[in-house]
Amino acid sequence: MIFRRNRKPVSPLKAIVVIGTLGILIVVAGTARFFQLQDRLLEEVKNKEAAYLDLVDFRGKLIEFTLSRTELSQPESVAEKPSSRQKEEGEILFYAYENLLALMQKASLSYLPVLHAGRGRGADLFAPQNILFLRLELEHALQQARIESRESQEKLVALNHFFLFFITAILLTLGMTAGGMLHHSYRQTLIPLAQLSLQLKRLNRNIPESIHDTAEEMKKELTESEHSLEITHITESIMNFCGDIEEKNKKLDELHIRDEKTNLYNYRHFKEHLIIEVERAKRLGDKVSLAMIDIDYFKLYNDSNGHIVGDDVLKGIADIISMQCRASDVPSRFGGEEFALLFPKTSSFTARDIAERLRKIISADPFPNEKDQPDGQLTVSVGTATYPDDATDWYTLVNNADKALYMAKSSGRNRVVTFASMESENLKSA
Ligand code: GH3
Ligand code: MG
Ligand code: MG
Repeated sequence: MIFRRNRKPVSPLKAIVVIGTLGILIVVAGTARFFQLQDRLLEEVKNKEAAYLDLVDFRGKLIEFTLSRTELSQPESVAEKPSSRQKEEGEILFYAYENLLALMQKASLSYLPVLHAGRGRGADLFAPQNILFLRLELEHALQQARIESRESQEKLVALNHFFLFFITAILLTLGMTAGGMLHHSYRQTLIPLAQLSLQLKRLNRNIPESIHDTAEEMKKELTESEHSLEITHITESIMNFCGDIEEKNKKLDELHIRDEKTNLYNYRHFKEHLIIEVERAKRLGDKVSLAMIDIDYFKLYNDSNGHIVGDDVLKGIADIISMQCRASDVPSRFGGEEFALLFPKTSSFTARDIAERLRKIISADPFPNEKDQPDGQLTVSVGTATYPDDATDWYTLVNNADKALYMAKSSGRNRVVTFASMESENLKSA
């Protein structure tokens, strides 16, 4: 058998579809997660930047407020009533302070105790005794905001790098898998297909003589290579097809050389062999004998029993003839109710003996309604001739056997006459 593995191999197309779908799902899920994380980090960076800028701004305002209060506390400053202006500036600064706290919270910057302690206390938060602490904490918060903003930016860059790596890895994996599958498919499908088509070309060229050899060769070559289940099925089908053709060819050959009604060899085959055997005998100095057999009063038998029964008798006699023949003999239907038996490498005496045995068997064999025949039984007459004793070529051999048969008929039927004996009788009577 050409099967080497029982395990059903995975179809490359199926594997590519499964792996491709998985890959696409992973890429889609990974990309969605990436955008989610990127959004979050961008928001974080933006908030921290905003908090940092607001801290810088607030520090400026606080310095301005401190300077202005120092100026207002000088006796020569008379531009405005010190207490109301200072109060207004304090309120503006407090508003900016509330904004800053909200931004810091949004940016998740850590809790600053002094700054938070002022919440709800209004502008007096900026009383001279608090300013120094406020400025110290502001510096600390600024530093922290700068560090955390940079860290968030670094995280964003790292995330982008990771995403690039992830996409590249997935694409590489998909590419390698597809490449592997294609390679596998090439080995399992394309190579065996090429071998198969080469063998089919040879098979086409050589039909019908070497169909068996070519089919065997194809089977052997395809067995040696690794191939897919589909190719195995195709190869098997072709093998079966070749087997069928071979069988049909044999049947055709048989039909070509056999007589349909009697299954003996037909006239064409008989004549071919007759010519070959006479030529061979001529070359080797051998003998070839021929017996012509004719059923006696067969027209009468047909007229009494019908042609269907007549056909059965014809077949029955043909069967007896082929059973009594040797493997090397060529039992044939010459035409009508006449048979020709070719005996290669056979003397006149042996041929006569075989013919006599045949005649006796046929006359002893029971046939339907044979008692109504003129002799009360169904019989045959036989004439024999031998090359080179009685003939110079195949044509005179047939003619002389026929003459002997005519003699058998005219001398009473149900008998065997050899051409040699007929000739000696003629000589005697002359
Ligand atoms: P004879 O003894 O002189 O040979 O007499 P015969 O009647 O056998 O010879 P004849 O030549 O007069 O007739 C031959 C008959 O053989 C005629 C025909 O009906 C019969 N015959 C020839 N071929 C077939 C055949 O294929 N089937 C059947 N049933 N009969 C056939
Ligand atoms: Mg006849
Ligand atoms: Mg006859």
